[in-house]
Amino acid sequence: MEKIAFERPFIKKLSAGMPSKFGMKTEIKPVTHIDDVAVEELIQKYGSPLFVISEKTMRETYQEAYRAFSTRYPKVQFAWSYKTNYLDAVCRVFHQEGSWAEVVSGFEFDKALANGIPGNKILFNGPDKPEEYLKKAIEQKAYIHIDHFDELYTLKQLAATLKTRPRVAIRVNMDVGIYPKWDRFGFNYENGEAWDALNRIMISESFELEGLHAHIGTYMMTTEAYGIAAAKLADLATGLERKYGHVIKYIDMGGGFASKNTLKGAYLPGTDTAPSFDEYAEAITSALINSGIKPENLPMLILETGRALIDDAGYLLGTVIANKRLSSGYRSTIVDVGVNLLFTSFWYEHQISPARPTTQHTEETAVFGPLCMNIDVIRESMVFPLLKTGDRFVISRIGAYNMTQWMQFITLRPNVVMIDPESKVHLIREKESLETIRQQERIPGHLQAKKQ
Ligand SMILES: *Cc1c(COP(=O)(O)O)cnc(C)c1O
Repeated sequence: MEKIAFERPFIKKLSAGMPSKFGMKTEIKPVTHIDDVAVEELIQKYGSPLFVISEKTMRETYQEAYRAFSTRYPKVQFAWSYKTNYLDAVCRVFHQEGSWAEVVSGFEFDKALANGIPGNKILFNGPDKPEEYLKKAIEQKAYIHIDHFDELYTLKQLAATLKTRPRVAIRVNMDVGIYPKWDRFGFNYENGEAWDALNRIMISESFELEGLHAHIGTYMMTTEAYGIAAAKLADLATGLERKYGHVIKYIDMGGGFASKNTLKGAYLPGTDTAPSFDEYAEAITSALINSGIKPENLPMLILETGRALIDDAGYLLGTVIANKRLSSGYRSTIVDVGVNLLFTSFWYEHQISPARPTTQHTEETAVFGPLCMNIDVIRESMVFPLLKTGDRFVISRIGAYNMTQWMQFITLRPNVVMIDPESKVHLIREKESLETIRQQERIPGHLQAKKQ
């Protein structure tokens, strides 16, 4: 029989944790395996910390989202938001499922092309589209989502030089009842700017006006906001039909659906509060179907969902470095995962689970990362089992934004593996080494000689 790990005796102060819809949670469930692969084996082979992506969860989540929309609306297209996670293996899974690419920089545009996505399946968003890339986008027949008038005029000039009509949409921002408003991207609906931009595009005859785009925010907890946004875009589409007899090809509702993570300070866990894909789909498709758009002209509905498609599929595995008491007596655990790898710990209360069964003894604990920096806090306070040096743990729901916003700071970025649906493990991004960093550096001649 396996020996049970020693846990030191302790006196427990009774303190209430956060309730969920099932009441108080009392048990701490270990995460010993991810898709049937043992956490300990993964770390033995690929090191600690380690990012793990479940391809199975990715595909299931995508299919669930696609089903929610396609059962409610005739034409649905997802476009994978590259900035949410642009590891090629991740993008390719979503592309295999049928997603186009949604990019917000020249670098991301090139990455999508390198992943085999043709220009006419790339949506080009963002406030910074260098001329060189606007040209490329025009030539590759990508959909350019115009952000401001300066871009519109640059495009008009490029269209004349290249003798091609760029395929465009405008990004529209609007009041959807969420404050502060996101009004820095695109053209405003309420003050008439969006309609002005559309008229300029139609009158100039330099463009193919293909669609209307909005991305109203991120981690949006209300579905009503999407209903309002869809109704406003539909209103613009109806205006174009009426005034120019012009029928747009698509309405793009952007991303922003909440994942099941718990925001800091939230009373209930995200698993209880995040709307389902069905609820988002209901709000958006109702607004479109019930709008003034003629049924035969109903545009394709594009979704650029990022976070909600990948968050659940990502795990960050790590190891306990040490335990110590703060001067107040508060328990703290130092782990080898820092905020440099887990950027989202600034706004989420991430779930951290032991990788082996523990007793139900717990204590309120601060979880600190390994950086020699005061801000390196993974959890300020959580009810945590009494893990010891060398014990493994698993942080769940970290697939969105961490593998793009991570920083090379103090330590190097670790391996990333993907577990395929047959539970085979694939290395999809190799860990960095001193050499990775040094090969980007150049030493001026007068500093070449190594002085003692
Ligand atoms: C970031 C972004 C997305 C993805 O947003 P999520 O909140 O991850 O769903 C989609 N569209 C645009 C334009 C974006 O900037």
